Amino acid sequence: MSKGAAVSSSAAFPVEGGCACRAVRYRLESGPLFVHCCHCRWCQRESGASFALNALIEADRVTLLGDEPEVVLTPSQSGKGQKIARCPKCRVAVWSNYAGAGDAIRFVRVGTLDAPDRLKPDIHIFTSSKQPWVVLSPDVPAVPEFYRIGERWPEESLQRRRALVAAAAGGPSGSGGG
Ligand SMILES: [Zn+2]
Ligand SMILES: [Zn+2]
Repeated sequence: MSKGAAVSSSAAFPVEGGCACRAVRYRLESGPLFVHCCHCRWCQRESGASFALNALIEADRVTLLGDEPEVVLTPSQSGKGQKIARCPKCRVAVWSNYAGAGDAIRFVRVGTLDAPDRLKPDIHIFTSSKQPWVVLSPDVPAVPEFYRIGERWPEESLQRRRALVAAAAGGPSGSGGG
């Protein structure tokens, strides 16, 4: 593991965020597993911008403080769809769940944090469709499409992911939570 590759320091958490009208509010109870800056065409179209910045975090580490978001099934590159959680009033998207990672991992939109500067990308993905004016830092890994999680995530995040997989398989022991 190279230095500087780790997820943002856990000391800085929890942090809060929410939609534009403040009906939906949430709190991230810990640092994320990993932060994707995605340059795929789907993210560009969906955001209307040049890339999407998503903090991947366990769903049970996102505490809902306000209204329940409304889930909108949106087409995705995989063809399996993306579930986008939007404020029922102002319709701002606060997080998504993808078929690949399932409901256990939320892709929280970093731009909805009260202090979005706190989370920077751990990796740039789908740079094959990056808009040409976007210049990437040489300090952050970048891949043309996707990557192998085991090769990129810090050990702590891999351990957290293993716990999710174990819980999904029925749980090794303990309550497993709700
Ligand atoms: Zn709202
Ligand atoms: Zn994307």
